[in-house]
Amino acid sequence: MSEQLITAPGQVSQTDTPVSVVGTPDGSRPGWSIGLDVGGTKVLGVVLDPSGAVRHQVRAATVRGIDGVVGGVVDAVHDLADLAGVAVEDLAGIGIGLPGVVDPRDGTVEHAVNLGIVERVALGALVAAQLGAQLPVQVENDLNMAALGAAHVITEPVADLAFLALGTGVAAGLLLDGRLRRGATGAAGEIGHLTLIVDGLPCKCGQAGCVEQYASGTAIDVAWPGPHSRPAPLELFDAAAAGDARAIEVRDQFAWAVASAVRILVLTCDVQHVVIGGGVSGVGAPLLDAVRGVLAAEAQASPFLASMGLAMRVSLAPAGSPVGAIGAALAGRLAREGAI
Ligand SMILES: [Zn+2]
Repeated sequence: MSEQLITAPGQVSQTDTPVSVVGTPDGSRPGWSIGLDVGGTKVLGVVLDPSGAVRHQVRAATVRGIDGVVGGVVDAVHDLADLAGVAVEDLAGIGIGLPGVVDPRDGTVEHAVNLGIVERVALGALVAAQLGAQLPVQVENDLNMAALGAAHVITEPVADLAFLALGTGVAAGLLLDGRLRRGATGAAGEIGHLTLIVDGLPCKCGQAGCVEQYASGTAIDVAWPGPHSRPAPLELFDAAAAGDARAIEVRDQFAWAVASAVRILVLTCDVQHVVIGGGVSGVGAPLLDAVRGVLAAEAQASPFLASMGLAMRVSLAPAGSPVGAIGAALAGRLAREGAI
């Protein structure tokens, strides 16, 4: 197993970053599959072997615009197939996750603003055409892919899981009864715009007091302003651990807001697992401890909440595990089965 770091199109460098071994086969069609997680700054790709284990990983800078995104995906697919020694046409499928409004039935994307894609484009068809191979190309919202991937890396079989992304904003991908829950318009899991505090901070969505204003990385940037030499969440949690009174206050309100997001997800969907990912999850154990602490305190005050066992349902996405790309590779494989 190896990772290749592609620093620019056509320029590939090797790294030693280990990739965690993922769980058991999921019963879909055996075969190699490739998944891409296309973000605003980088494209992460993995190739899964027939057992569902990550065998190789690549990373490339995102090139904005539809031509850049398609080109980046196609290059990554070729690189991963070469690393695995598998011909592209022999793959069981390809999956692409990206932040935008996706119609997974036809692989079209629109409003992927961070990728420079505004108008509706047939991403899946464009990628398939450039690859020149007859194989499924499944396109999904990136958080849906992360939910699939997170369910795969958890050792036990998981049918009900929410992937709670804490980044610039707050939103969740939902896996319910073993299927992705996309919703009537693809907006399922947009819990970042539920009202958390009446008459609270204004939100770009036009409301006030949204979850996103308190539980996102952006919220920490505002509440714990720099200059920072490291990401603001890391500095905040370190300062709080060192006893800084203001940092403790900011950290505790942040943890309360994240705990509220967890509570919303469990009480609406009864998910067994809420896996916290996104940039803020890089804080690691101190974040998980703080959120579990809030949930445990709330359970002390409420027999109902105590009965839900919220604190035990929350966990962090495995550090360094490309769950979005892993989920995309699974989706590509499942698409051939019509199982997604
Ligand atoms: Zn909002």
